[in-house]
Amino acid sequence: MTDICYPHTAELLSVEQARQNIRLAVRPVDGQERVPLLGALGRVLADTVCSPIDIPPQRNAAMDGYAFASADIAKNQEFTLHVAGTSWAGKPYSGLIEKNQCVRIFTGAVVPDFADSVIAQEQVTGTGTGVRLPNDTKPYKNIRAAGSDARRGETLIASTQKLTARDLGLLAAAGIAAVKVKNRVKIGFFSTGDELTGLGQTLAPGQIYDSNRYMLAGLLDDPNHSITDLGVIKDDPDLLEQTLASAAETFDVLISSGGASVGDADFVNRTLQKCGQVNFWKLAIKPGKPLAFGRVKNCWFFGLPGNPIAVLVTYRQFVEPALRQLAGAPCATPLQLKARCETALRKSPGRQEYQRGIFRQTAPGEFTVKPAGQQDSHQLKAASLANCFIVLDSDSSGVSAGDMVTVEPFEVWNPG
Ligand code: AMP
Ligand code: MG
Repeated sequence: MTDICYPHTAELLSVEQARQNIRLAVRPVDGQERVPLLGALGRVLADTVCSPIDIPPQRNAAMDGYAFASADIAKNQEFTLHVAGTSWAGKPYSGLIEKNQCVRIFTGAVVPDFADSVIAQEQVTGTGTGVRLPNDTKPYKNIRAAGSDARRGETLIASTQKLTARDLGLLAAAGIAAVKVKNRVKIGFFSTGDELTGLGQTLAPGQIYDSNRYMLAGLLDDPNHSITDLGVIKDDPDLLEQTLASAAETFDVLISSGGASVGDADFVNRTLQKCGQVNFWKLAIKPGKPLAFGRVKNCWFFGLPGNPIAVLVTYRQFVEPALRQLAGAPCATPLQLKARCETALRKSPGRQEYQRGIFRQTAPGEFTVKPAGQQDSHQLKAASLANCFIVLDSDSSGVSAGDMVTVEPFEVWNPG
């Protein structure tokens, strides 16, 4: 079969090249829906949103204090203003004003038209019916202009952005109650393997619990995904073919784990060659050397390796960026930092390695990292303890204690 993305080569495909091939192949899913703001967190905006109003809508006070006209300032000396009334937040002052009068005002209250300045209450002295302002009173202070956050018609958030909590705040400030977002990506995922047993069952000899599906369910948890657990498929080519054929009608993306290499029980490869256009890449990555990527009918297919850590690594490096793209979000790759490695790390040249590490920030911008534990591709315990990958280049032949290494954080919080 010809590779739909990349010419066949005896060499291992680099991580970057594989990611690029996937990036060039996938397109965002079609369709959009309108959702209320409270259901929009994390979704990908389908249209650019402009503000229908000035934010803030009116001039208002930035402080509790007194609103006055700068024309009333007496140069280089104290002066007293009579308090004509109060402008509360939500209850503007509507009375008339004469010369040398001011208005008591609270933060967020509309500044009456006559005033161009607000002085903080701490800076004035009460005089019974008035207030005395100091000789260094500055004009034009403590007023937020209408539209000083965003003007009517101005772009608030560009399409393709994943909406954050801050975005929801901004949209609400503009009075926008619902937004158009990209449709969710429909994803089906399953495990393959005769040895896999479901949770709640007793293990028969030779069996293990299916951990990949649970990890994948967690990795796939995202507001832009609609995920369906398709269970465990036995190492039976007919069953696999039926599953693939029907799932490909329903989902935008199918993700399997296991059976993707060339062992006698690895049917994913052969079945996919019958049902779709799928490439089997040997990647220069550890763990996770075999990876299948392609299409079955209109459905993208990722055939991940079986070893749990290989699932974790290939998901993060290849599937997650592709899913972001399918969801309509801009291309992105995992964030990388430099950290000083506390211990030596063993590695043979040839493949880019993703070891599981624990990194911490020792001072702003300074990080250290150490291995999280045993680094074999079945060893989930270190992955559970880890908060990052330690990324070692293909040509690296190991690291000495004290060397700087690249880390890809899983979390943005510094462990305490
Ligand atoms: P395979 O790629 O099917 O040859 O599997 C490689 C290794 O990963 C074997 O040790 C499998 O038992 C293990 N494995 C495959 N699928 C799973 C799974 N869903 N959960 C845990 N381990 C798995
Ligand atoms: Mg297997």
